Amino acid sequence: MRVGVLALQGAFIEHEKMLESLGAETFEIRQRRDIDQSMDAIVLPGGESTVMGKLLNELDLMNPVRDFIKSGMPVFGTCAGLILLAEKIYDDKAVHIGTMNITARRNAYGRQLGSFNAKEEFKGIGEIPMAFIRAPYIEEIGEKAEVLAVCEGKIVAARQDKQLVTAFHPELTDDISVHKYFLEEICR
Ligand code: GLN
Repeated sequence: MRVGVLALQGAFIEHEKMLESLGAETFEIRQRRDIDQSMDAIVLPGGESTVMGKLLNELDLMNPVRDFIKSGMPVFGTCAGLILLAEKIYDDKAVHIGTMNITARRNAYGRQLGSFNAKEEFKGIGEIPMAFIRAPYIEEIGEKAEVLAVCEGKIVAARQDKQLVTAFHPELTDDISVHKYFLEEICR
């Protein structure tokens, strides 16, 4: 299993470490030619979705990455990665990759609660630690997508076919179960 980790900005190294600890091979996607190599899955890390969206366009990565995902390549987006995949962003005209039937709400917990930790059930895994950093949540979920976790009444993880998103950062905890779920349940 070879996983390309988008490495333009944000928390990508933590994803690489976690995936490698689970036996996957990783490489960094920094420019257009990086995606010419063989790849079985893509990870979109946390960071700043507006910056990542802009860089994806400037580096001519947006369309090819969207095409890979549309043709069924497994993708895991955390936090800003969730925003990149959302079909709609609440109160915002921007759409980035836009392949997932969800509406993301950015910086959704407000300034005070921008960063916090929680422990909640994740469907198919059980209770896991969740680290939120200026996190979005899923404001609305379409019928093509399925809710996987809820925190404080907000949807914080979902899946749609081979697309998995979390509003929190599993790669910033020592719990490898969401990455394991991605490799074993989504990438299979
Ligand atoms: N607030 C960021 C955004 O809107 C997401 C934060 C994160 O990825 N930790 O892109």
